[in-house]
Amino acid sequence: MAELDLAEVNQRLESAEPPQILEWAWQQFAPRIAATSSFQSQSLPLLHMITRVTPEMPVFFLDTGFHFQETLEFRDRLMAEWGLRVQNLSAEMGHVAFGRQYGQLHNTNPDLCCFINKVEPLRLAKAGLDAWITGIRRDQTDTRRDATIVSLERDGAYKICPMLNWTKQDVWRYINRHELPVHPLLSQGYMSIGCAPCTRPIVDGEDERSGRWAGTNKTECGLHLDSTPKKG
Ligand code: SF4
Repeated sequence: MAELDLAEVNQRLESAEPPQILEWAWQQFAPRIAATSSFQSQSLPLLHMITRVTPEMPVFFLDTGFHFQETLEFRDRLMAEWGLRVQNLSAEMGHVAFGRQYGQLHNTNPDLCCFINKVEPLRLAKAGLDAWITGIRRDQTDTRRDATIVSLERDGAYKICPMLNWTKQDVWRYINRHELPVHPLLSQGYMSIGCAPCTRPIVDGEDERSGRWAGTNKTECGLHLDSTPKKG
Protein backbone atom coordinates (compact mmCIF):
# COMPACT_ATOMS: atom_id res chain seq x y z
CA MET A 1 0.00 0.00 0.00
CA ALA A 2 1.37 3.37 -0.98
CA GLU A 3 1.64 5.94 1.79
CA LEU A 4 -0.60 8.94 1.20
CA ASP A 5 0.33 12.58 1.53
CA LEU A 6 -2.65 13.33 3.78
CA ALA A 7 -2.41 17.11 3.53
CA GLU A 8 -2.40 16.98 -0.27
CA VAL A 9 -5.13 14.33 -0.50
CA ASN A 10 -7.42 16.12 1.95
CA GLN A 11 -6.98 19.43 0.19
CA ARG A 12 -7.91 17.79 -3.12
CA LEU A 13 -10.88 15.80 -1.77
CA GLU A 14 -12.33 18.52 0.47
CA SER A 15 -14.32 19.94 -2.44
CA ALA A 16 -15.06 16.59 -4.14
CA GLU A 17 -18.54 15.08 -4.17
CA PRO A 18 -19.09 11.81 -2.23
CA PRO A 19 -19.24 9.59 -5.38
CA GLN A 20 -15.88 10.99 -6.53
CA ILE A 21 -14.35 10.25 -3.12
CA LEU A 22 -15.76 6.71 -3.20
CA GLU A 23 -14.34 6.14 -6.67
CA TRP A 24 -10.94 7.50 -5.64
CA ALA A 25 -10.90 5.25 -2.54
CA TRP A 26 -11.78 2.15 -4.54
CA GLN A 27 -9.09 2.85 -7.15
CA GLN A 28 -6.57 3.48 -4.42
CA PHE A 29 -7.27 0.52 -2.11
CA ALA A 30 -9.41 -2.21 -3.76
CA PRO A 31 -9.81 -4.98 -2.83
CA ARG A 32 -8.46 -4.18 0.66
CA ILE A 33 -11.26 -1.74 1.52
CA ALA A 34 -14.76 -2.01 3.00
CA ALA A 35 -17.52 0.30 4.19
CA THR A 36 -19.46 0.18 7.45
CA SER A 37 -23.15 0.97 7.73
CA SER A 38 -25.73 1.01 10.52
CA PHE A 39 -28.59 0.76 8.00
CA GLN A 40 -30.56 3.71 9.28
CA SER A 41 -32.31 6.27 7.08
CA GLN A 42 -29.34 8.62 6.93
CA SER A 43 -27.14 5.71 5.76
CA LEU A 44 -29.11 5.45 2.54
CA PRO A 45 -27.28 7.99 0.32
CA LEU A 46 -23.88 6.38 0.90
CA LEU A 47 -25.26 2.86 0.41
CA HIS A 48 -27.01 3.98 -2.77
CA MET A 49 -23.79 5.55 -4.08
CA ILE A 50 -21.92 2.32 -3.33
CA THR A 51 -24.37 0.37 -5.50
CA ARG A 52 -23.73 2.82 -8.34
CA VAL A 53 -20.03 3.60 -8.05
CA THR A 54 -18.34 0.72 -6.19
CA PRO A 55 -20.82 -2.22 -6.22
CA GLU A 56 -18.07 -4.71 -5.36
CA MET A 57 -17.27 -2.97 -2.08
CA PRO A 58 -18.12 -5.08 1.01
CA VAL A 59 -20.38 -3.37 3.57
CA PHE A 60 -19.85 -4.32 7.22
CA PHE A 61 -22.83 -4.32 9.58
CA LEU A 62 -22.04 -4.48 13.30
CA ASP A 63 -24.53 -7.04 14.50
CA THR A 64 -24.46 -6.36 18.24
CA GLY A 65 -27.41 -8.58 19.12
CA PHE A 66 -29.27 -5.49 20.38
CA HIS A 67 -30.66 -4.05 17.16
CA PHE A 68 -34.32 -3.36 16.53
CA GLN A 69 -35.91 -6.15 14.50
CA GLU A 70 -36.91 -3.42 12.02
CA THR A 71 -33.23 -2.57 11.43
CA LEU A 72 -32.37 -6.20 10.66
CA GLU A 73 -35.29 -6.45 8.26
CA PHE A 74 -34.33 -3.15 6.60
CA ARG A 75 -30.74 -4.42 6.15
CA ASP A 76 -32.03 -7.66 4.61
CA ARG A 77 -34.37 -5.78 2.30
CA LEU A 78 -31.59 -3.53 1.00
CA MET A 79 -29.26 -6.50 0.54
CA ALA A 80 -31.88 -8.27 -1.55
CA GLU A 81 -33.09 -5.27 -3.56
CA TRP A 82 -29.79 -3.45 -4.08
CA GLY A 83 -27.39 -6.39 -4.20
CA LEU A 84 -25.22 -4.99 -1.40
CA ARG A 85 -22.38 -7.27 -0.32
CA VAL A 86 -23.14 -7.13 3.41
CA GLN A 87 -20.97 -8.90 5.99
CA ASN A 88 -22.26 -9.12 9.57
CA LEU A 89 -19.65 -8.59 12.29
CA SER A 90 -20.29 -9.78 15.86
CA ALA A 91 -18.39 -10.19 19.12
CA GLU A 92 -16.20 -13.28 18.97
CA MET A 93 -17.94 -14.82 22.02
CA GLY A 94 -21.35 -14.65 20.30
CA HIS A 95 -24.58 -13.05 21.51
CA VAL A 96 -25.65 -15.86 23.85
CA ALA A 97 -22.32 -16.06 25.67
CA PHE A 98 -22.20 -12.26 25.88
CA GLY A 99 -25.63 -12.19 27.53
CA ARG A 100 -24.62 -14.92 29.96
CA GLN A 101 -21.37 -13.23 30.96
CA TYR A 102 -22.33 -9.55 30.87
CA GLY A 103 -26.15 -9.37 31.04
CA GLN A 104 -27.38 -5.78 30.66
CA LEU A 105 -23.90 -4.30 30.28
CA HIS A 106 -25.33 -1.38 28.32
CA ASN A 107 -26.91 -0.16 31.60
CA THR A 108 -23.75 -0.37 33.70
CA ASN A 109 -20.85 0.19 31.28
CA PRO A 110 -22.05 1.17 27.80
CA ASP A 111 -18.51 2.04 26.68
CA LEU A 112 -17.38 -1.51 27.37
CA CYS A 113 -20.54 -2.93 25.77
CA CYS A 114 -19.84 -0.91 22.60
CA PHE A 115 -16.20 -1.92 22.73
CA ILE A 116 -16.97 -5.65 22.84
CA ASN A 117 -19.82 -5.57 20.33
CA LYS A 118 -18.65 -2.91 17.89
CA VAL A 119 -15.08 -1.71 18.26
CA GLU A 120 -13.41 -5.12 18.64
CA PRO A 121 -15.31 -6.88 15.82
CA LEU A 122 -14.47 -4.01 13.48
CA ARG A 123 -10.84 -4.00 14.60
CA LEU A 124 -10.56 -7.70 13.75
CA ALA A 125 -12.24 -7.25 10.37
CA LYS A 126 -10.01 -4.27 9.57
CA ALA A 127 -6.89 -6.36 10.13
CA GLY A 128 -7.23 -7.52 6.52
CA LEU A 129 -7.86 -4.03 5.13
CA ASP A 130 -5.90 -0.95 4.18
CA ALA A 131 -8.90 1.39 4.36
CA TRP A 132 -12.50 1.65 5.53
CA ILE A 133 -15.33 3.93 4.50
CA THR A 134 -17.72 5.48 7.00
CA GLY A 135 -20.71 7.76 6.48
CA ILE A 136 -20.10 10.21 9.34
CA ARG A 137 -20.80 13.92 8.80
CA ARG A 138 -19.31 16.99 10.44
CA ASP A 139 -22.74 18.36 11.33
CA GLN A 140 -23.65 15.33 13.48
CA THR A 141 -21.60 15.87 16.67
CA ASP A 142 -18.94 18.14 18.11
CA THR A 143 -16.44 15.27 18.06
CA ARG A 144 -16.94 14.86 14.30
CA ARG A 145 -16.62 18.55 13.47
CA ASP A 146 -12.83 18.46 13.15
CA ALA A 147 -12.64 15.17 11.20
CA THR A 148 -10.87 15.06 7.85
CA ILE A 149 -11.99 13.23 4.72
CA VAL A 150 -8.99 10.88 4.94
CA SER A 151 -7.10 10.10 8.14
CA LEU A 152 -4.64 7.45 9.23
CA GLU A 153 -5.73 5.45 12.27
CA ARG A 154 -3.51 3.95 14.95
CA ASP A 155 -3.99 0.46 13.51
CA GLY A 156 -2.45 1.63 10.23
CA ALA A 157 -5.66 1.71 8.16
CA TYR A 158 -6.92 4.79 6.39
CA LYS A 159 -10.37 6.02 7.40
CA ILE A 160 -12.29 7.71 4.59
CA CYS A 161 -15.42 9.82 5.12
CA PRO A 162 -17.06 10.67 1.77
CA MET A 163 -20.15 12.27 3.40
CA LEU A 164 -18.21 14.48 5.80
CA ASN A 165 -19.26 17.79 4.24
CA TRP A 166 -22.89 16.88 3.69
CA THR A 167 -25.58 18.30 5.96
CA LYS A 168 -28.77 16.69 7.19
CA GLN A 169 -30.57 18.67 4.47
CA ASP A 170 -28.26 17.25 1.77
CA VAL A 171 -29.06 13.72 2.99
CA TRP A 172 -32.81 14.26 2.79
CA ARG A 173 -32.58 16.02 -0.58
CA TYR A 174 -30.76 12.95 -1.95
CA ILE A 175 -33.23 10.49 -0.37
CA ASN A 176 -36.18 12.38 -1.82
CA ARG A 177 -34.61 12.94 -5.26
CA HIS A 178 -33.86 9.24 -5.67
CA GLU A 179 -37.04 8.10 -3.89
CA LEU A 180 -35.06 5.86 -1.55
CA PRO A 181 -36.76 3.74 1.12
CA VAL A 182 -36.37 4.87 4.75
CA HIS A 183 -36.01 2.96 8.00
CA PRO A 184 -39.43 1.71 9.18
CA LEU A 185 -39.05 3.41 12.59
CA LEU A 186 -38.41 6.88 11.15
CA SER A 187 -42.13 7.66 11.24
CA GLN A 188 -42.08 7.02 15.01
CA GLY A 189 -39.43 9.70 15.60
CA TYR A 190 -36.25 7.62 15.38
CA MET A 191 -34.04 10.01 13.40
CA SER A 192 -30.78 8.27 14.38
CA ILE A 193 -30.97 4.58 15.20
CA GLY A 194 -28.49 2.36 16.96
CA CYS A 195 -29.12 -0.50 19.39
CA ALA A 196 -32.63 -0.69 20.84
CA PRO A 197 -31.68 -0.29 24.55
CA CYS A 198 -29.66 2.84 23.77
CA THR A 199 -31.97 4.66 21.35
CA ARG A 200 -35.15 6.63 21.92
CA PRO A 201 -37.25 8.65 19.49
CA ILE A 202 -36.67 12.42 19.43
CA VAL A 203 -39.17 15.24 19.64
CA ASP A 204 -39.40 18.48 17.61
CA GLY A 205 -36.47 20.77 18.24
CA GLU A 206 -34.01 18.07 19.38
CA ASP A 207 -30.97 17.36 17.24
CA GLU A 208 -31.00 14.12 15.29
CA ARG A 209 -28.58 12.21 17.57
CA SER A 210 -30.07 13.30 20.91
CA GLY A 211 -31.98 10.00 21.09
CA ARG A 212 -28.71 8.04 21.28
CA TRP A 213 -27.55 7.17 24.84
CA ALA A 214 -30.01 9.81 26.07
CA GLY A 215 -29.45 10.96 29.65
CA THR A 216 -25.72 10.10 29.58
CA ASN A 217 -22.60 11.92 28.42
CA LYS A 218 -21.94 9.27 25.80
CA THR A 219 -22.24 10.48 22.21
CA GLU A 220 -20.12 7.98 20.28
CA CYS A 221 -19.97 4.18 20.22
CA GLY A 222 -16.18 4.29 20.01
CA LEU A 223 -15.67 3.43 16.34
CA HIS A 224 -14.68 7.03 15.69
CA LEU A 225 -12.69 7.64 18.87
CA ASP A 226 -9.71 5.30 18.52
CA SER A 227 -9.64 4.51 22.30
CA THR A 228 -10.17 1.61 24.73
CA PRO A 229 -12.67 1.85 27.65
CA LYS A 230 -11.96 0.78 31.25
CA LYS A 231 -13.36 -2.57 32.45
CA GLY A 232 -15.50 -2.86 35.59
S1 SF4 B 1 -25.20 0.91 21.58
FE1 SF4 B 1 -25.84 0.13 23.61
S2 SF4 B 1 -26.44 -2.03 23.33
FE2 SF4 B 1 -25.31 -1.37 21.49
S3 SF4 B 1 -23.24 -2.05 21.81
FE3 SF4 B 1 -23.36 0.10 22.54
S4 SF4 B 1 -23.95 0.05 24.75
FE4 SF4 B 1 -24.26 -2.03 23.84
